[in-house]
Amino acid sequence: MTKTRVQDSVKHLLLVGGGHSHLAVLKSFGDTPAAGARLALLSPSRHAFYSGMVPGVVAGHYRPEDCRVDLGALAARAGARFLLDSAAGVDPARREVTTARGERLHYDVLSLDTGSSAGEPAGAAEHALRVRPIEPFLAGWERLRESARRGEVRRIAVIGGGAAGVEVLLAMRHGLAGAAVSAASRCTQAERSLQRAKTGSSSTAASASRRRQRYGQPERTRLHGSRRAGLPPTRAASSR
Ligand SMILES: Cc1cc2nc3c(=O)[nH]c(=O)nc-3n(C[C@H](O)[C@H](O)[C@H](O)COP(=O)(O)OP(=O)(O)OC[C@H]3O[C@@H](n4cnc5c(N)ncnc54)[C@H](O)[C@@H]3O)c2cc1C
Repeated sequence: MTKTRVQDSVKHLLLVGGGHSHLAVLKSFGDTPAAGARLALLSPSRHAFYSGMVPGVVAGHYRPEDCRVDLGALAARAGARFLLDSAAGVDPARREVTTARGERLHYDVLSLDTGSSAGEPAGAAEHALRVRPIEPFLAGWERLRESARRGEVRRIAVIGGGAAGVEVLLAMRHGLAGAAVSAASRCTQAERSLQRAKTGSSSTAASASRRRQRYGQPERTRLHGSRRAGLPPTRAASSR
């Protein structure tokens, strides 16, 4: 086979996003290198954070560096080129991804793993601390915890009452133990999830129940916290 034909047979696999799914893909290429494939990883962050441990960071059990994966090192192990940038557009006709910095990346096979996105309330981007992306969230949580310790924050509302929202809420309560702050989830299903957790009547509730066991009995502790702060018990706290 001539050099040109060998080059033609090489497939360019472009991985966009360094999240949970692509971690497994990169590990698999690292474990079993694929001949004839040239890999590139495009990620706006140098690190991937393992979301399952994020509530543990919020609760104060782990440091942020305990739950992050060095994408550059993982890509190198898989023989992939690592590009610190984000995708801005895809041109399937040309088989090209344009990055935010204007670079054009050719691909034969494209794998998009840019996570989920959901509509959020107006003003959330400016005024709320979003859990994703995780890296700025953890830095923001550190600042919030310091403000709470100085008595500048009295009440935290969590928007989003799925399993992760409930877990983050409980972790915040644990992480803020000693500070006179109440954390509550309003206008979400968190309260119902927690209520159902008492009977273990749904998978979300069962998971919330396990997580509550992991973090102890924060609801009762925080109800006291609310009273110390002179705040009315929140719906989530008073439903205990
Ligand atoms: C607090 C919390 C706890 C959780 N706990 C659990 C758990 O215990 N068990 C469980 O199964 N699930 C859990 N989840 C859910 C889990 O994190 C998601 O299901 C999982 O991350 C989805 O993986 P993904 O690969 O689709 O996307 P993600 O892991 O979200 O990865 C998407 C990646 O794409 C990147 N990206 C975004 N836009 C671009 C762009 N334009 N160009 C390039 N890259 C881009 C992002 O930087 C990110 O790294 C939890 C979630 C949260 C928030």
